[in-house]
Amino acid sequence: MKPMNEATVIFLSRSANEGFARTTAACFAAQLDPTLEEINDIKTAVSEGVTNCIVHAYPDKLGLVQMRLRLFEDHTLEIQIKDKGVGISDVEQARRPMFTTGGEERSGMGFTIMESFMDGVKVRSTPGKGTVVTMRRRISRRLGGAQ
Ligand code: ATP
Ligand code: MG
Repeated sequence: MKPMNEATVIFLSRSANEGFARTTAACFAAQLDPTLEEINDIKTAVSEGVTNCIVHAYPDKLGLVQMRLRLFEDHTLEIQIKDKGVGISDVEQARRPMFTTGGEERSGMGFTIMESFMDGVKVRSTPGKGTVVTMRRRISRRLGGAQ
């Protein structure tokens, strides 16, 4: 399916850019007239995905993070978050609730949160090459909305 709109931003893995990415995704999603709950869910999922790039993908250096936002005719928003960092050797294990390589500061709940707030989450990763997380969320059609 061809997207009816799309946008891509590329930013450094600085923690200041977590808020930038979250707000950018919310602004892009606004054209679908989402509910406050939908917007908050999207922001939470983006926050988890981008924080993972900042914390895990580039543990002791800065690297680039790419976020691609796409909207489809069926009111689906797709968010793809990509890094060229360390990668994940066992994706299935990484997705398990409470699995973390981050030590005491992290709870290992990021992927679980992304899964619960979005309708689908795909993770592709190659150790040493990087990780791509693709999430989808169907936005409700509201009566009286522009769509
Ligand atoms: P929390 O998100 O609760 O603070 P966490 O980040 O460890 O803790 P998840 O977000 O579920 O938990 O991620 C699980 C694990 O997957 C991480 O501990 C890390 O090992 C790995 N991981 C996740 N995203 C990436 C990434 N972009 N690059 C490399 N490793 C990642
Ligand atoms: Mg995390």
